[in-house]
Amino acid sequence: MIVIGAGFAGLSAACHLAAGGARVRVLDRHNQAGGRARTWSQDGFRFDMGPSWYWMPDVFERFFRSFGREVTNLYSLQRLDPSYRVVWPGGDNWDIPAGIEPLRAMFETRRAGAGLAFDEFIAQTRYIYESAYADYLFRPCLSFFEFVDVRLVREMFRLKMLRSMHSYARSFFADERLARLVEWPVLFLGASARETSAMYSLMSYADMALGTWYPAGGMHRIIEAIVSIAKELGVIFQLGERVNRINVEQGRAVGVSTPGGTLAADAVLASADYHHVEQRLLGPEHRQYSERYWQSRAMSPSSLLYYLGIDGDVGDLPHHTLFFDENFDAHMNAVYGQPAWPEAPLFYVCAPSVTDPSVAPEGCSNLFLLIPLAPGLADDDQARERVYHNVMTRLEAHVGRPLRSNVRVKRSFAMRDFETEYHALRGNAYGMANTLRQTGPLKPRLRSTKVGGLYFAGQLTVPGPGMPPSLISGELSAKVLLRDLA
Ligand SMILES: Cc1cc2nc3c(=O)[nH]c(=O)nc-3n(C[C@H](O)[C@H](O)[C@H](O)COP(=O)(O)OP(=O)(O)OC[C@H]3O[C@@H](n4cnc5c(N)ncnc54)[C@H](O)[C@@H]3O)c2cc1C
Repeated sequence: MIVIGAGFAGLSAACHLAAGGARVRVLDRHNQAGGRARTWSQDGFRFDMGPSWYWMPDVFERFFRSFGREVTNLYSLQRLDPSYRVVWPGGDNWDIPAGIEPLRAMFETRRAGAGLAFDEFIAQTRYIYESAYADYLFRPCLSFFEFVDVRLVREMFRLKMLRSMHSYARSFFADERLARLVEWPVLFLGASARETSAMYSLMSYADMALGTWYPAGGMHRIIEAIVSIAKELGVIFQLGERVNRINVEQGRAVGVSTPGGTLAADAVLASADYHHVEQRLLGPEHRQYSERYWQSRAMSPSSLLYYLGIDGDVGDLPHHTLFFDENFDAHMNAVYGQPAWPEAPLFYVCAPSVTDPSVAPEGCSNLFLLIPLAPGLADDDQARERVYHNVMTRLEAHVGRPLRSNVRVKRSFAMRDFETEYHALRGNAYGMANTLRQTGPLKPRLRSTKVGGLYFAGQLTVPGPGMPPSLISGELSAKVLLRDLA
């Protein structure tokens, strides 16, 4: 069998297929496994290129246990405390403590009575998370009624989940900052809190109750652990090999073509971006979705990223800092409403060298900046630089020292890089926006209805974007494939 793509989804699929007895070959156009979670190294700095938040540790544990492994034997995981810092307008900032009890105390300190509301919020979101984890997250959504059952509909109404995360958060917390604090995690799902269903409040539970973790050495350690399991299971890796075509004969996928030749297979599982696979690797007669369908989808944001290697330390900065210090709605509008380069963007800074000296040379610091931008925005080096100076001015004011003059390594990455490196539609970073109309069975399907033996996985199909969902997606797709073959 052939798996296209060596990101979280493709690697997960490869392991599950191989454990199910299949002979598996993974092809990826890059020389390194990891996909959006690859690393880039320069002058002794090692940057995780994409993910930096390790959430939902239970999903990783479940994945590794299905191959008889424990996370503790694969990489060293540390819970971050504070989980992260939020910088508010006016420079006020909150360090968000790890653990339910200190969090509850923080809510109560910020506003009398908010501790009780926090208890209720956690109780309700725990129920939602546990229901999803026990069942819905693991449904392959091959048909509408396989996912949407009577229980789900009843619970959606009982818990008023059809409302937005924005309104749900404010039904618990009158204080605007507390409401922002519990709603921001849905931004990971590629849509604003106003457009995201309250059922995704499970992300807030993941944040507050399950915690923010860091694997020593960086996120790529997870990829390395999965690759080593895949190799033990007999998976063959062909990296640096771009697939140009999925070959179809008599309605069945029979292999792929690459610049190096043709490879035969009895099934193909594609975890590269779904739009690219259908529109570029298949003939028109074999596509399930038209270009018009794709153009009408709400994609997740793209992002402007900066990888910075800094001489010296960066002052008082925790591992993760969210700069919510500018007008929230103005930036949301520039990303989701009227696409434009934001004048004063919200942004996120990761400083992994604060926790892990191995990611920078001695005496130096590793910084990763992320600024969400609208997908499809015209990319422009001058606009990138303008945003860079805007956010660096605010970061320097926050830490109270110059940083730009100490930058030794600097690389930016934005829309056109997402397009060329990952074939991402409109340069999206995180797949499709998880709006209610693009959830579960309303996402592009795991199994092709046009080509036998062709399966899909990855952040554009179920259950959605993020490392844990991509791992699950690979598992679901592999299991459907193995079941079909059996
Ligand atoms: C900047 C950024 C920050 C993020 N932060 C977080 C975070 O903090 N926490 C979190 O959980 N998630 C985060 N995510 C999301 C997470 O990284 C992704 O959801 C996940 O890695 C997607 O995995 P995937 O396997 O679906 O796709 P990918 O990782 O994109 O893998 C697909 C692979 O297919 C390859 N490919 C494409 N076309 C071809 C072809 N024709 N032939 C051969 N190979 C091909 C690509 O090179 C790529 O390697 C972040 C993502 C980004 C971009």
